[in-house]
Amino acid sequence: MKEARPSRRTLLGVAGALLGTGLGAWHKSAGLPAPSKLRPPGAGMEGDFLSACIRCGLCIQVCPHDSLISSGPDSWLSLGTPHLLAREIPCKLCQGEESDALKCIEVCPTDALKSVEWWDEVRMGVAIIDRDICFAFNGTTCRACWHACPLPGQAIKLNAWMRPVVDAEYCLGCGMCTHACLTGKTSIPIIPMQDFKPGDPTHIGEGTA
Ligand code: SF4
Ligand code: SF4
Ligand code: SF4
Repeated sequence: MKEARPSRRTLLGVAGALLGTGLGAWHKSAGLPAPSKLRPPGAGMEGDFLSACIRCGLCIQVCPHDSLISSGPDSWLSLGTPHLLAREIPCKLCQGEESDALKCIEVCPTDALKSVEWWDEVRMGVAIIDRDICFAFNGTTCRACWHACPLPGQAIKLNAWMRPVVDAEYCLGCGMCTHACLTGKTSIPIIPMQDFKPGDPTHIGEGTA
């Protein structure tokens, strides 16, 4: 009788686990700055995420909106890890699905993506408004980001001049505002949570998406 062989997927998972753990440990010990990518819901600080993610790609496969993409060789430390380019496809928080569960978190076999009780507890990053190019700050009525936000009136408020203001306490970092923004270059990029410093004026105009 033949011995049962481990499946290709199992082998890939084990290799990914070793790679992820090794790279993450090396990354921590080297004290290198973490690469700034917008990570899926439930990802914690970058170093911890890189240590825990085994690069299995299950979150990427399961996302019903194709929001997640695999990181390329731009940073070999994060090679194969999931991230978003929210200007192109934001995290839609699994809206329209039968269950309320966030599928990427549900499928993650490790602690890389940690559970949240409700979707409004997600903290991927914080949106910031580039007032130099935002239509609403430059004489044109626009509320596209406010309309797109899953938490209008909380994460994005409209001030007395009907201009958008982000409240970092509630912002999920989902990027739906970034995606909806009508200016050529987005006026409302997302700062990944690990890079966000409350009150930092250099945040204006920065962001990965
Ligand atoms: S929460 Fe849903 S839509 Fe957002 S990245 Fe995860 S699987 Fe995709
Ligand atoms: S499912 Fe979890 S371990 Fe697998 S690639 Fe996604 S974040 Fe990493
Ligand atoms: S302000 Fe933007 S990133 Fe924040 S919750 Fe609203 S749509 Fe999502």
